[in-house]
Amino acid sequence: MTASHKDTTPSWTVADSENYYGLKRWGGGHFSVDDEGFMQVHPLCDQRSIRIHDIVKEAAQKGLKPPLTVRIQDLLHTRVIQLNQLFRDAIKDEKYDGRYRGVFPIKVNQLREVVEEIQDAGKPFNYGLECGSKPELMIAIAMHKDPKSLIICNGYKDDEFIRLALQGLRLGKEIYLVVEQLSEVPRIIQISKKLGVTPRIGFRIKLSTVGEGKWASSSGEDAKFGLTSPEIIDGARRLKRAGLVESLRLIHFHIGSQVPNIQTIKKATVEAARFYCELKKMGFPMELMDVGGGLGIDYDGSRSNYESSMNYTMREYARDVVYNIKSVCQDAGIDVPDIVTESGRAIVAPHSILITEVCDRISKTAVPPRPASKRKKINPVLRDLQANLDNEHGSTPLERYHDALQKKEEANHLFSLGYLDLAERAQADSTYWAICQELCEQAKHSRYTPEELESLPQMMAEQYVCNFSVFQSLIDHWACKQLFPVAPLHRLNESPDVDATLVDITCDSEGKVSSFTDVEDIRHTLRLHELKPKEPYYLGVFLVGAYQDIMGDLHNLFGRVNEVHVFLEDDEEDGFYIEDSIKGFTVNDVIGFTQYDGHILTRLMKKQIDRATKADEIKPREGTRMLDEYAELLRGHTYLAT
Ligand SMILES: *Cc1c(COP(=O)(O)O)cnc(C)c1O
Repeated sequence: MTASHKDTTPSWTVADSENYYGLKRWGGGHFSVDDEGFMQVHPLCDQRSIRIHDIVKEAAQKGLKPPLTVRIQDLLHTRVIQLNQLFRDAIKDEKYDGRYRGVFPIKVNQLREVVEEIQDAGKPFNYGLECGSKPELMIAIAMHKDPKSLIICNGYKDDEFIRLALQGLRLGKEIYLVVEQLSEVPRIIQISKKLGVTPRIGFRIKLSTVGEGKWASSSGEDAKFGLTSPEIIDGARRLKRAGLVESLRLIHFHIGSQVPNIQTIKKATVEAARFYCELKKMGFPMELMDVGGGLGIDYDGSRSNYESSMNYTMREYARDVVYNIKSVCQDAGIDVPDIVTESGRAIVAPHSILITEVCDRISKTAVPPRPASKRKKINPVLRDLQANLDNEHGSTPLERYHDALQKKEEANHLFSLGYLDLAERAQADSTYWAICQELCEQAKHSRYTPEELESLPQMMAEQYVCNFSVFQSLIDHWACKQLFPVAPLHRLNESPDVDATLVDITCDSEGKVSSFTDVEDIRHTLRLHELKPKEPYYLGVFLVGAYQDIMGDLHNLFGRVNEVHVFLEDDEEDGFYIEDSIKGFTVNDVIGFTQYDGHILTRLMKKQIDRATKADEIKPREGTRMLDEYAELLRGHTYLAT
């Protein structure tokens, strides 16, 4: 028996699906369902669309089956243009006297094709790059082409990092070294003197304004980054003494990622703008104000200041940043700076979709209740459970639940002591689940549910086994309980009748998804469709383009999934083409990360097969085949072959 909603939803429509899975709320105009129940993506937010299911089919033809990352390159392009355009609009509307000079922080998604697409889209806006480590700077400096765009260097810096940044200046690039630690100041002075270049320097400020949400610890007085106000004065003095007044031109802050509340952003901007004005009054040629990242993504579509949402739009963000800088500068009688933002998540999160195939289900009722054996006397515990199921005594749901719990415990106890056999234990479990199932159904239709019964739907939910690893592909869901929208890619014109949670294929009980986005609060189960034999059922996890790709790990040695990069194409019947594909890790790849070598393992296998052949335990031909299969598996993928 499965949780059934059939009685409540006689004629399910695609609009019901759009509503239930919330894609009009979290999708930013990029997702909809077509008449035949397929999820489509609208890369440019217009009527041009691609069926995601078609992408999965085409990728499979190229040998790239799910788990699969699909990157919608035109959607990424659109986000870059939107952000830049909204800042331009805000600057125009506010009659702001400076420019917007955004940068993309490459730590949020370093993949070359992603960075290239962003650079391409950002070209008309002189959109630049931000880096936070030596390797990221090495990428940024080499990939950077537009001399009118910025490179901003954050993060801890050693002498090599500083040297490389200064070398970039000599190549004509506008590179800023943002000081995170006071100790960087004397080193920048020393190295720039040695190289004979005038550095461009920014100060990162430790604001008293503290962020909100999951990633708030990047800010406030305990943050590990930035200069306190006495340190700013100290650093400024040192630059003056070294004759580098010219160099200090930028201030920077970053209050943490996914800031849910616009008030925090406004407060931080005002505080930082005050620092800007003070430094300018001290005689530094200040010209840039960098407000960092933090621009959110509305993962649950609730437009609230809940941590997986944001209570503002990108437009409001742009306006508030521009307006608040302007008003602080105006009050101080100081020319406004050019504005830099380092929005990462907001740029890249929406373009990427993780696709997984449901490959099995785990039910609480896998063993159907078996009629009790005629030979034996029925154990009173079983009889009581059956009476409870039949509700012979007309008890309330809560009473029935308490009784059922008690009897189930008794049954387990009797089984452990040897008074119940396996068949009887199965009978007890199944009857107990059937009772819970019934109470669960009743609870759905009643207005008031006692607290103890509230967890029943979650307990009774089906578990859909999905071919992927949470630790590789949704690491923040496990590590920070971040929510991502999940929805089927097809059958959205059918009523989803099964309440389910998702489990991955790692041997780790934490490898699961049992909290889902909802407009209000969190869902603990998601309604999905019945699985059909021989028909693959695909789920998409959306808005996964920020941070997940690079932070995923090798738990159980699954590793990177297959990946395709999709472009809109009017000349194609289905409206798209796959420009690039990247194969996921093979077994050979992942074992290499843990110091094994495929050749050596094969040789070790061969030795054992040879021994077994000599001992006549297997035939020589079988042995050869066994070895071939082993070698074949080494070349194959790590995930379930479906
Ligand atoms: C991580 C980071 C960003 C990006 O933040 P988002 O919230 O993803 O926009 C920007 N600036 C700095 C300094 C960062 O560390």
